[in-house]
Amino acid sequence: KPVVLSGIQPTGGMTIGNYVGAINQWLKLQEDHDCFFMLVDLHAITVRQDPAAMRERVLDGIAMYTACGIDPEKSALFVQSQVPEHAQLGWVLNCYAQMGELNRMTQFKDKSSKHANNVNVGLFSYPVLQAADILLYQADQVPVGEDQKQHLELTRDIATRFNNIYGDVFKVPEPYIPELGARVMSLQDPMKKMSKSDENPNAFVLLLDEPKKIEKKLKKAVTDSDEQARIYFDRQEKPGVSNLLTLLSVATGRSVEALVPEYEDKMYGHLKKDTAAAVVEMLTPIQSRFREIRADQTLLDNIMRNGAEKAGERAEKTLKAVFDAVGFIPRP
Ligand code: ATP
Ligand code: MG
Repeated sequence: KPVVLSGIQPTGGMTIGNYVGAINQWLKLQEDHDCFFMLVDLHAITVRQDPAAMRERVLDGIAMYTACGIDPEKSALFVQSQVPEHAQLGWVLNCYAQMGELNRMTQFKDKSSKHANNVNVGLFSYPVLQAADILLYQADQVPVGEDQKQHLELTRDIATRFNNIYGDVFKVPEPYIPELGARVMSLQDPMKKMSKSDENPNAFVLLLDEPKKIEKKLKKAVTDSDEQARIYFDRQEKPGVSNLLTLLSVATGRSVEALVPEYEDKMYGHLKKDTAAAVVEMLTPIQSRFREIRADQTLLDNIMRNGAEKAGERAEKTLKAVFDAVGFIPRP
């Protein structure tokens, strides 16, 4: 079975962007792939986190993955810091990545200007740790939103470079970017992607938002000032409307092409209302499963333990090969 790896940072509540761009894809992949899904807490601390809040969010994350339908029997669900090989390989790969190539990463540019008082080295080398995450599992495919495409390219470059020196140590992974909803945009600025760490909570819908809140946020969603308020799909001309159509499509499971004709002579308000209703309908059962799982610490511990064990087994093999390749002597 082809191997798939992906993760989400415990930097805030998961958004519908994370669902569409990540979890929803994982659900399909876990049926016929060997999947490793993680909460990347090592990545999260590149931005200052409150320790107590992060602990809660990691548990929320495990519960949320499971509530969304990720099956811990089929997939390895784990916490990155519980598999030490990530940090170990991350260090090695830092020595095979160039400052120049990291300097070109747009996420670093975005995040370092947003967190100008804490532009730490980890934030800069974030994509190298991400490369380690992927290469440790010899992943064939990496499902990522469009925002992570550049990092995946870098991973491929690092893997190829390493292999050229030492022989075929790493599998060079392929991106897996879904066509529809590759990118869910901010509800407040539809030219920007939706992010859970956005300081304006109206910019995102959280998977745990209450129905009332979802309705309110969608009602406030920025559209455009087209006087005829035409509804059609065009990310350039109609970014806000197209974003709503994407969400409606994901939430109803119907294609955008099928939906558009139904809105030809309707108003933005209709589209917003229907989108909110569809999103609420999709999230309600997830939320109730979430509450059940989240309250069961034994279950959460078992999921994390089994996940880390499964992941660790595979990670250990790759790390051994890497240490051997670069000339480290195993502890006698
Ligand atoms: P942060 O603002 O802290 O970076 P985030 O919302 O960008 O949070 P990440 O943890 O960085 O979330 O990303 C987790 C996964 O979700 C990645 O695969 C990423 O590509 C995907 N993703 C994040 N935001 C979106 C979005 N708006 N649309 C589609 N996919 C997304
Ligand atoms: Mg992000």
